[in-house]
Amino acid sequence: MTNDPQDLDMPRLHWLMQMLQTVDVGLVVVDRAFDIQLWNGFMENHSGVRTSQARGNNIFSLFPELPDQWLTRKIESVFTLDSRAYSTWGQRPHLFRFKSYRPLTGRSEQMYQNVTIIPLTGMDKRVTHACILIYDVTDIATSKIELEKANQELARLSRTDRLTGLNNRGHWEERLSQEFRRFRRSQTPSSLVMFDIDHFKKVNDTFGHQAGDEVIKQVASTLLSLQRETDISGRYGGEEFGVILPETNAEQASIMSERLRVSLEEAEVEYEGQHISFTVSLGVCEITPDMTEYSQWLERADQALYHSKRNGRNQTTVHST
Ligand code: GH3
Ligand code: MG
Ligand code: MG
Repeated sequence: MTNDPQDLDMPRLHWLMQMLQTVDVGLVVVDRAFDIQLWNGFMENHSGVRTSQARGNNIFSLFPELPDQWLTRKIESVFTLDSRAYSTWGQRPHLFRFKSYRPLTGRSEQMYQNVTIIPLTGMDKRVTHACILIYDVTDIATSKIELEKANQELARLSRTDRLTGLNNRGHWEERLSQEFRRFRRSQTPSSLVMFDIDHFKKVNDTFGHQAGDEVIKQVASTLLSLQRETDISGRYGGEEFGVILPETNAEQASIMSERLRVSLEEAEVEYEGQHISFTVSLGVCEITPDMTEYSQWLERADQALYHSKRNGRNQTTVHST
C-alpha cells in the first residue's frame, strides 16, 4: 500500500479505460472545434473507423452524413448551458448510420439510437468538451414499430368486411353517424343510397352459395369503381349495401344510383363456366333538417328501397317527404 493517491489512481484509470472501451454504449468526446478526442470500442466496431483514425479529426469531416446543423446546435447548447441534451429514436431514428445485427430475426438493419450529450468540465469547472453517448435501442424500436403495425392492421381488419373488402356494417354505421353530425353542423347536403340484390336467393339456389359470393364481390368492385373518393360504401347486410354521398343532393344521388344500377345490370359474373346476371333495387334519401338521428335517415332510404322492390325491382326510388 502506498499513501500516494497518484499511485492508486493509475490502476483505476486503467480499469476505467478498459470498461469504457468495452461498454455496449457508443462514447465520443469532442472539443469545441468538434474534433474527436475519444472514440470507444463500440464506435470502432460499428463504424469501422479505428480510434487512431478518429482522434484529432473533425467529426463532420469524418462523417459527412451527420446532420451537421442539428448536431452543432445540440452540442453548442451543451457547451453554453452546461446541461445535457437528448434525442430519442422516435424524434430521430439514428445519429450515426450503423447496421445492427438482430439475432432473433437473423436480419441486419439500421441501428436505432437514443442519444445523450453531456458536458465535460475541466479542473476550473468550465465546460471544455462534450461527450456524445449512443445507445443501441434497435430491439425496443423495432418491436414497438412492429406492434404499431400489427395494431393498425388489426384496426383495419376490424373495420373491413372479409368477403368484399368494403367497410363492414359496424364501421359503416359509425361513418353514417359521423356524416349525420357533420350535416347538423354545416347544413351542406348529403345523401344516402341503400340497395339490395334482387331475388338473390334464386342466385344461390340455382348456382350455389359460392357463386352467390362471387356476385356479392362483383357488386362491391363495381361500386368501388364508380364511387368518388369521398363516398363511403359498406356492406350493410348479406346482400344489402349502403353508400354515403357527402356534398350530394337527392337529384345528384339518384344519377349516381342509376349509373350503379345500369352497371350492375350489365355486369356478368362467370362462375365455373356459367354466366350469372343479376339486378339490384335502390333507395335514395337526402338528409333533411327535421331528422334528429341518423337511424331516421337510414330508415327512409330503406323505405325508398322497398318501394323499388314492390314496384317491380331493378330501379331507383328517391324518398319523398
Ligand atoms: P329480394 O329481391 O326481395 O331482395 O329477394 P332476395 O331473395 O334477394 O331476398 P332475401 O333477403 O329473402 O334473401 C337474401 C338471401 O341472401 C338469403 C341469404 O341466404 C343470402 N345471403 C345472405 N348473405 C349471403 C352471403 O354472404 N353469401 C351468399 N351466397 N348468400 C347470402
Ligand atoms: Mg335481396
Ligand atoms: Mg335482403
